[in-house]
Amino acid sequence: MADLKALANELVSGSVQVIDLTAPLHEGTPILGLPEPMGQTAKFKLELISQYDEKGPAWYWNNFHTGEHTGTHFDAPIHWVTGKNLDDVSQVPPQRLVGPAVVLDFSKEVAANPDFLLDVSHVQAWEKANGAIPKGAWVLFRTGWSQYGEDPAKFANADANGPHTPGLTVECAEYFATKTDILGMGVETVGTDAGQAFGFSTPFPCHGMFLGNNKYGLTQLRNIDKLPTTGAIVIAAPLKIVKGSGSPCRVLALVTK
Ligand code: MN
Repeated sequence: MADLKALANELVSGSVQVIDLTAPLHEGTPILGLPEPMGQTAKFKLELISQYDEKGPAWYWNNFHTGEHTGTHFDAPIHWVTGKNLDDVSQVPPQRLVGPAVVLDFSKEVAANPDFLLDVSHVQAWEKANGAIPKGAWVLFRTGWSQYGEDPAKFANADANGPHTPGLTVECAEYFATKTDILGMGVETVGTDAGQAFGFSTPFPCHGMFLGNNKYGLTQLRNIDKLPTTGAIVIAAPLKIVKGSGSPCRVLALVTK
C-alpha cells in the first residue's frame, strides 16, 4: 500500500520537493506558426474585466484568450487524425495523467546540432545504463531548448528550410508508441516533433504515432534539468475542456531531496 501519510509528511518537511515544469503563460509565450494556408493557433492574451475599479470595486479578474496548444500544453489523442476516435482532453483518465518520469538527457548533442534526433539506439543505450523505462512513465526528452523559451525567434530557430529543433526519428516514435507502455513524451520544444519533421518519410511521427496509440504529448517544459534521471513523479494537469484537442497544462514533478 502506498504510504500517502509519509508522503504528506515529506512534502511538509521539504524532503519531497515540487518542481514546476511549466513555462510562464503570457502574451510573449512562443507559439507554433504554420505555413499558409493552414489555420493558426492563438497567442495567450489577458483581457481585463475589472481591477478594483468601477467595473468591480473590490475584485480583480480577467478573461483569457488562448489556443489549446499554447505554452506548456497537453496533446490529447484526438489532436491527430490517427487518434480521431480516441479521447479528447476531458476524457483522458486521471490515472493516466500521473506517472514516474524518466529523463533522457541529450542536451550536449542538441547544443552541437539543433536538428538532433533521438533514435532507438539511444533509448536502448539509456535503458542499458539506467534500467528499463517503467510502465506508465512520462518520458522526458531533455534538450536544453527551454533556455530559449522567452525568445520566440530563437525558440523556433527557423530559416528558409523551416524550423531547426530537436525531436525523434520516425523509428523512435514508432518504438515508443507501439513497443512500450509509456504515458507519453514530454519535450522542451514547441511541439513533440522535430522542427524538420514535416519532411520526414512519415511526417510528424510523434504526433501521428503517439496520439494514434493512445499516448500523450507534453510540450514546452521547463526545469527538466532539475529532475533526477529516474525517480521523479510527474503530474500533468490539463484543463478538462470538453471536446478539447489539448490544453495549456500545469506540469509538476515530485522529487526527493
Ligand atoms: Mn500540441
